[in-house]
Amino acid sequence: MTLQDLFLEKFGIKPEVLEFCNKVEQEAAARFREVEEIGEFNQAKVLAACIKHGLSESHFAGTTGYGDGDIGRETLDAIYAEAFGADYAMVRMQMISGTHALSTAFFGSLRHGDELIYATGQPYDTLHRVIGITPTQGSLIDHGVKYTQIALLPDGSVDHQKLADSITKQTKVVAIQRSKGYSFQTGFPVSEIKKMVETVRSVRKDVLIMVDNCYGEFVEKLEPTEVGVDAIVGSLIKNPGGGIANTGGYIVGGQTFVENAARKLFSPAMGLQLGATLGENKPMAMGFFMAPNMVMGSVKSAIFMDEVFGRLGFKTSPPKTVTRTDTPQVIRLGSAERMTAFSRGIQKAAPVDSMYAPEAVYMPGYADPIISAAGSFIQGSTSELSCDGPIRPPYDLYVQGGLTWHHGKIGCMMALNEMYIDGLVEIPK
Ligand SMILES: *Cc1c(COP(=O)(O)O)cnc(C)c1O
Repeated sequence: MTLQDLFLEKFGIKPEVLEFCNKVEQEAAARFREVEEIGEFNQAKVLAACIKHGLSESHFAGTTGYGDGDIGRETLDAIYAEAFGADYAMVRMQMISGTHALSTAFFGSLRHGDELIYATGQPYDTLHRVIGITPTQGSLIDHGVKYTQIALLPDGSVDHQKLADSITKQTKVVAIQRSKGYSFQTGFPVSEIKKMVETVRSVRKDVLIMVDNCYGEFVEKLEPTEVGVDAIVGSLIKNPGGGIANTGGYIVGGQTFVENAARKLFSPAMGLQLGATLGENKPMAMGFFMAPNMVMGSVKSAIFMDEVFGRLGFKTSPPKTVTRTDTPQVIRLGSAERMTAFSRGIQKAAPVDSMYAPEAVYMPGYADPIISAAGSFIQGSTSELSCDGPIRPPYDLYVQGGLTWHHGKIGCMMALNEMYIDGLVEIPK
C-alpha cells in the first residue's frame, strides 16, 4: 500500500484534495526550510544546555513531600535558564497553567500602590480576572495595584510614544504579550519586543519588563530574555513542554523576579528550594529537549494551513509577509458551516477521541457559541493539533499545534476534505 492509498482509503481523502495539497506542499518548500533551520538552531541550544548542566538518569528519580534537595528540579531550572539566556528559572508542576504562572509572576512582584502597564493592548482573556479588568475578588486591582493598558495603534502596532509617556514613579512592571491571543492581529516578534525594551529603558532603567511568552517559545532563534527583557513566563502544556510534560509552568529571568514569584507560589518562608516533583522530572526534561522539534512541526503545520487556505481565497493571519513569533494560525472561514466542517476534519484526524464530532456550544462568559476540536494526549494541550473559535462573523478559526509536522499536514487535509465533501469550498484544478 502506498502513502496515497493510505490517505485515500484509510482517511477517505478525495483525490482532488490530495493532489492540491501535495502541490502546495512542494511549492512551500522554501518556507519549510527556513523553519527547519530555526528548529535546528533551537535544538542545538537546548542540547547544549542539557550537556552543560550534566542532565543525568539520577535526576529523574523525583521527590515527595517538601521536595527538599531535588537535584532533578534544580538541574531543570538551570537548563531552562541557560537555554533562555537568563540567570534564574522556576519550572514547577505546582504551576498548573500559563495563567497560573503569569498570575504568580505578577503577584510576586506587584505590591499595593504599584502600577502594572500592559504595552500590547488588551491581554489574553484569562488574565482579565487575574488583573481585575473584569472586577474579581482577589485580583491585582482588588489588591490595590494600579492598572494601565496602552491601546494598540490602528495598524496593530505598539504605541511607543504613549507607552513612554505613561511610565511614572509608580510603574513597577511593564507587561508584553508576545502572541496574538484571540485576535486577527499578528504577534510581536522578538525584534519588536527589543524596541519596546528600548522605549521603556529610555524613561526608566529599573522598571521590570515581563513577557507573556505563551505560544512563542522556539518559534524564533531568540527569546525575549535575550534582548533585555527581565522575565518570560509560559506554560508547559504549550511549546516548552514538547507535548510530553504532563503539567507545569515556568518563570525565567532575573534572580529577584524569580525568587519573588517562588515566595508567592509557595510561601514567603520558602523559595526556589522546595516543591516535590514526584515522577515528573523526566517528562518535563524530555519535553523541553523535544520542544524545538515539536514547535518546528507546529510551525510547519501552521504554514501549510496558511498556504492551503490562502490559495483557496481565505484570509489568514499571520500572513507570510511578517515574521512569525507564535504557533497559532487564524483562518477567516466566513461561515459557521465551514468552521464546523473544518473542526470535524481536525477531530477526525486526532490520535485520541477521533470518534467524536465537535459541536458549537455556549460557554460561560462568552456571548457566542464556541466550536473546538481537540483530541489530545494531555488535557487542554494546545501544542497538540487543535482548533477553536467563536461562531460569529467574520468566522475566524484559530488552528494551532501539532506534535509532528506530518500529523499537522494530515489534519489540514482532513479539514479541507470535510469542507470539500460538504460543498463549502472549490478546489482549483
Ligand atoms: C494560552 C495563553 C495563556 C494562558 O495559558 P493557559 O495555560 O491556558 O492558562 C496566556 N497568554 C497567552 C498569550 C496564551 O496563549
